[in-house]
Amino acid sequence: MSIYLDYNATTPVDARVLKAMQPYFADAFGNASSIHSAGQHARAAVDSARYNVAALIGAKPAEIVFTSGGTEADNLAILGVVAASAKQRKHVITTTIEHHAVLNSCQELEKQGIEVSYMPVGSDGIVDPEDIRRAITADTILISVMHANNEIGTIQPIEQIGEIAGEADVYFHCDAVQSTGKLPFEVNRLGVDLLSLSAHKIYGPKGIGALYVRSDTLMAPRVFGGHHERDRRPGTENVPGIVGLGKAAELARTQLGEDSARVAVMRDRFENALLESIPITRLNGSRACRVANTTNLTFAAAGGEALVIALDLQGVACSTGAACSSGAIEPSHVLTAIGLSSEEARSSVRFSLGRPTAAAEIDEAIAIVPRVVERLRALSPLAPTAVDAR
Ligand code: PLP
Repeated sequence: MSIYLDYNATTPVDARVLKAMQPYFADAFGNASSIHSAGQHARAAVDSARYNVAALIGAKPAEIVFTSGGTEADNLAILGVVAASAKQRKHVITTTIEHHAVLNSCQELEKQGIEVSYMPVGSDGIVDPEDIRRAITADTILISVMHANNEIGTIQPIEQIGEIAGEADVYFHCDAVQSTGKLPFEVNRLGVDLLSLSAHKIYGPKGIGALYVRSDTLMAPRVFGGHHERDRRPGTENVPGIVGLGKAAELARTQLGEDSARVAVMRDRFENALLESIPITRLNGSRACRVANTTNLTFAAAGGEALVIALDLQGVACSTGAACSSGAIEPSHVLTAIGLSSEEARSSVRFSLGRPTAAAEIDEAIAIVPRVVERLRALSPLAPTAVDAR
């Protein structure tokens, strides 16, 4: 039996999404920019998807820019807004726990002479909006803060930061890749000017995402070509992908409440069982203020990479840190930012549940994980500390 508990890394394409996409690979293959009827058919499909993405986040369809995913949406927002800004303003604010799509875009800006303030978070994994207020200067162009963290699931106070950004007349970008489909939200309530989302986290296909750009936002393109996406992101539209994102967004809108209520019950049962049955295990980040599907646990002296591999052999798929940093030797930047030592961060594992997760899978995982942790601890040179602490 294979138990997939890594839905924050990616989700399977929902059968209804796949069905909606299929015609656009071969039968309805038109280029959405062609004026003949095949082109118009593709254009109608793209428009309808744009409407569904906009409806999910409370935006206007014209404010949606399709991209190749969350990474490109983050890059376009950050690099595009700075490129379009008055050259004398040279400051950006973000947090230490952003996804690398944001952090590395900011590092790129630093190479261009832009100053970036990386705001710390508390041990609960949440940034203090007042720290952001204090960091704003007359030079600040943009604030970029994620909605839900991919590793620990904590939810940032986006509405409060949105107010602060609005008062200071500074652009506000939010990476909502991990909150879309998990939390209900509307861009106007959040007070964001730009917001990134990705299809493969919401049961859509990989390689497609979107950036919401409030209509009066100045943003320069970062890729150059034709006039697609209102000159903001050129390139022939990925029609099947866009249709898939549109269908996934429509399903997320109608299923959101049901999905998260069901998943929260299973996540809490799983988490409580592991915390109770495995000694010196600790939950990372705020317990209360996080998305319903994620739990990140430190199993002292068990070794995260070894644990992920050993659990995989037992049929349980989970991850250490973010999927993109697996294989990297550095401990997770998110876990160290909330105060874990490198050793603790390296012994931490993220489990993330999803729409297809069944209660029976959780029962199985509750039986498997403690056995595997115990076995690895028995082999670990750090194990005596673990035993002593019992
Ligand atoms: N932002 C966050 C918070 C993510 O979790 C991810 C994916 O892991 C991304 C951005 C990148 O999205 P994509 O995989 O679509 O490029």
